[in-house]
Amino acid sequence: MSWLTRDGLAASLAVGVAVTWGLGWPGLALLAAFFLSGSLLTRWASGTGGRRNARQVLANGGIAAAAALAGSWPAAAGAIAAATADTWATEIGSFSPVAPRLVTTWERVTRGASGGITALGTAGGVAGAVAIAALAFAVEPRGVAPGSAVLVGAGFAGMAADSLLGATLQGLYECPACGARSERRDTVCHAPVRLIRGRRWLDNDGVNLTATLVGAAVAALGARFSS
Ligand SMILES: [Zn+2]
Repeated sequence: MSWLTRDGLAASLAVGVAVTWGLGWPGLALLAAFFLSGSLLTRWASGTGGRRNARQVLANGGIAAAAALAGSWPAAAGAIAAATADTWATEIGSFSPVAPRLVTTWERVTRGASGGITALGTAGGVAGAVAIAALAFAVEPRGVAPGSAVLVGAGFAGMAADSLLGATLQGLYECPACGARSERRDTVCHAPVRLIRGRRWLDNDGVNLTATLVGAAVAALGARFSS
């Protein structure tokens, strides 16, 4: 499996077992749709795609696993909708003919910069949420279903939270010599990078974890108030 590191594979299996244990094959179907579509899109968009480690896997799937173990189909489905929307937005947005703009200040930023959004990427993210909502509608257990609109909303909310946090609280670093920017604090370019925005304790994995938590919360609340 070239999509995952060894510990990433172990984490993926743990998430898969937790989701299946808690929600059965419908939960596993949603998780598999996220994982396969995300991996394929990453291959397609970036050519190679990095191998995901355990931290990255748990940042995307940990909330879904916890929600499944707690027996909440809406929260798990909402977390998966958010993770899918986020991944599709990033990968499809990489094909945007226009440069992304920062979601907060609307200034132009480089491709792939956290907090940067494009119309194409946003449409891709909504498509990802719609895909998960459609699959959920087809497989979800009777009587516990959040409406499809709730799941699309959960996916969109997670994607929006990801962009907002990426533009504000997520740590952003810069090389003091050449000005090259990085989201990784351990980068050494010409010299060790220094923090220029956000917080040291919030990296991309923390942002993804928060975004999936937002998706889970929106879907759980939406399911409660719409039933
Ligand atoms: Zn440099």
